[in-house]
Amino acid sequence: MATDEPLRVGWIGTGVMGAPMCGHLLAAGFPVKVFNRTKERALSLIEQGAQWSASPAEAAEGVDVAVTMVGYPSDVRAVVLGERGVLTTAARGTTIVDMTTSEPQLAKEIFDAAAAKGVSSLDAPVSGGDVGARNAALVIMVGGREEPFDKALPLFKQLGKVVTYEGGPGAGQHTKMVNQIAIASGMVGVCEALLYASRAGLDVAKVIETISTGAAGSWSLTNYGPRALKGDFEPGFKIDHFIKDLGIALEEARRMKLSLPGLALAEQLYIAASAQGRGQKGTHALLLALAQLSDVEWKTRAP
Ligand code: NAP
Repeated sequence: MATDEPLRVGWIGTGVMGAPMCGHLLAAGFPVKVFNRTKERALSLIEQGAQWSASPAEAAEGVDVAVTMVGYPSDVRAVVLGERGVLTTAARGTTIVDMTTSEPQLAKEIFDAAAAKGVSSLDAPVSGGDVGARNAALVIMVGGREEPFDKALPLFKQLGKVVTYEGGPGAGQHTKMVNQIAIASGMVGVCEALLYASRAGLDVAKVIETISTGAAGSWSLTNYGPRALKGDFEPGFKIDHFIKDLGIALEEARRMKLSLPGLALAEQLYIAASAQGRGQKGTHALLLALAQLSDVEWKTRAP
């Protein structure tokens, strides 16, 4: 491939995050082959010029970079290492980039399986939410070897405002776990704060505006507070995906003999929210779970 030609991309997973991310690559002129479990969710990308593939294996044929952005580690395992997975067809010299939030151990397993076939692999999870995906403003944390990182950089630059090389295989996923640990208790605080503001009879919109500018300001408060106020609890970031992340982080912490009680509490609260039937709602729907605990109503306000 000539160096001035855009990377040929195979893209697997066109959900809340994957669809807009893949769209940015198409808009920038990258030739893209696309696969998703549910074809309907890839139709708008096909309309934008992506070529439909019948499997992850087909999507990875004849491309320079095969990107996976699916839900859970089990999905990553299926689309990369499975029977019709990316690794069955990826040619020597191809780079596999898994952008799913997944297990550091699985990233290492993929790295080794790929290396045995002369294929490179990077773990490259992201932060910045659905808003970041739509605005190409993600933070991308990458693990693997530096040479394929440099090769994939033009692709990453279409998706994110910050792209960092964190170290060897699994280092991207570990960094994302640090991110999730930092966010987990913070989200609990945001939801409890909003519930308190409402119960105290304050103008919640005004309170969000006020405290966002002070020491309590956070990405979660600024992005999710107004959505909660409108009664919009659609994801965003699904509660069941967050429980997946907290489980991975707790497992890694256990492996390192590290006690993280704040993280464990957050996980328990999110498990309760999921058990209440809110697993497919956004993480800010924890607010409704907490309201239910105190038997109070969350009063929404028209936008
Ligand atoms: P999502 O909307 O559920 O999208 C996942 C996509 O992967 C869906 O289109 C799904 O297909 C597809 N998929 C799953 N298993 C597959 C398989 N075996 N073969 C082919 N396609 C498969 O989730 P998301 O919100 O985009 O999140 C994706 C990943 O990014 C998750 O690991 C999440 O934790 C992480 N993340 C999310 C956010 C966020 O704010 N949403 C932020 C940072 C990181 P279907 O259409 O058939 O369901």
